[in-house]
Amino acid sequence: MSKKMHPESLMMSHGYKPSLSEGAIKCPIFQTSTFVFNTAEEGKRFFEVAYGLSDQKEGEELGLIYSRLNNPDLEILENRLCLWDEAEDCAVFESGMSAISTALMEFMVPGDLLVYSRPVYGGTDHFINHFLKKMGIESIGFRADETEEAIVERIMATGKADRLTMIHIETPANPTNALIDIDMCVAIKERFSTSEKPVILSVDNTYMGPLWQHPLQLGADLVLYSATKYIGGHSDVIAGACLGSKALIGRIKGLRTFLGNMAGPWTGWLLMRSLETLKVRMEQQALNAVQVANYLRQHPKVSHVYYLGFIPEQGTPNEQRIFREQYTSSGAMIAFDVKGGEKEAFLLLNNLKLIKLAVSLGSTESLAEHPGTMTHADVPQEDKNAMNITPSLVRLSVGVEHYEDIIADIEQALALV
Ligand SMILES: *Cc1c(COP(=O)(O)O)cnc(C)c1O
Repeated sequence: MSKKMHPESLMMSHGYKPSLSEGAIKCPIFQTSTFVFNTAEEGKRFFEVAYGLSDQKEGEELGLIYSRLNNPDLEILENRLCLWDEAEDCAVFESGMSAISTALMEFMVPGDLLVYSRPVYGGTDHFINHFLKKMGIESIGFRADETEEAIVERIMATGKADRLTMIHIETPANPTNALIDIDMCVAIKERFSTSEKPVILSVDNTYMGPLWQHPLQLGADLVLYSATKYIGGHSDVIAGACLGSKALIGRIKGLRTFLGNMAGPWTGWLLMRSLETLKVRMEQQALNAVQVANYLRQHPKVSHVYYLGFIPEQGTPNEQRIFREQYTSSGAMIAFDVKGGEKEAFLLLNNLKLIKLAVSLGSTESLAEHPGTMTHADVPQEDKNAMNITPSLVRLSVGVEHYEDIIADIEQALALV
């Protein structure tokens, strides 16, 4: 074919050769720990390449050795994930947290400085402020409303500007969809990068990727996912991924080999099955979210709705610019304040029937939760205030059900508040 195909057209076949698996149309689960070499010479060559003792020749495929190093279910999945973000390479992990922690550990050493956006995912926040801190890595957390000048000043004030090694951001921020400007982060990265020590910008793209935001195209170096969310999409698997250049992912795969936190073949197979419907699921979820957000906005018992789709008409000029530059959809995550406080928010949550009361997001079923006491329970009160994480805030991940049923469920529950 002359024209490059769209990722959704390739999700059923890319990277898989049926002839290598008895003609099976789908990639089987390669539930095996080790792989038989045809000859000792072949085994020697596979190890040379795997351990970087010798470069891969043009067209040479990395031989299968042992499932901690490589496995067809992971390799094919990684090739397919690359298509959405137009990445050179990808590494998949047994959880989003292991993707994030491995990336941060590979590129930072004691004495280094990390800059990150707040709020980040609770697990990431804990890893940065407990584990990395214990390792002697200092960090600066900045909020969406801080300017480039203010962040640069804070970096200079640490006296460790020359040790800035990574900027890690999550946009839009969970739960209120605050936007972090990737362009601004690229500018900060370039300002503090030197030829010996380039600053690495990583973006947790779980909320909007891999469909609606492509950070690598905007100048980021690494894209991270909790594949548990939209990529998996069925609330039945925990997994993660990291994408970027061959050189950076090569390093991450190196550490993954020694931490042993790669995904297993069964996880790889489940995610390949999920990828086949990724686009139709996410598009339907986004369409449903428009309807749900518009319904919530006009409801007399709802005081505020946080939804990216309202930015073009309600956002500040800066938010409108970031939205235009970074996103191709308004996504399917909504947060809203019920009039009243925790009591009213809990009444709503306890009376939902179709929508399940659970954390996590991006799955086929709609999920609702209370950030203030659940996902963001350990965020300091001062930060909660600054980030609008109020006692009356409810977060909704919109699923693929009929939007009329989702709205009817919210309607009957709000009627009881
Ligand atoms: C869920 C989530 C994670 C953690 O992923 P796990 O798969 O649960 O380890 C990281 N970042 C974001 C934005 C998430 O929503």
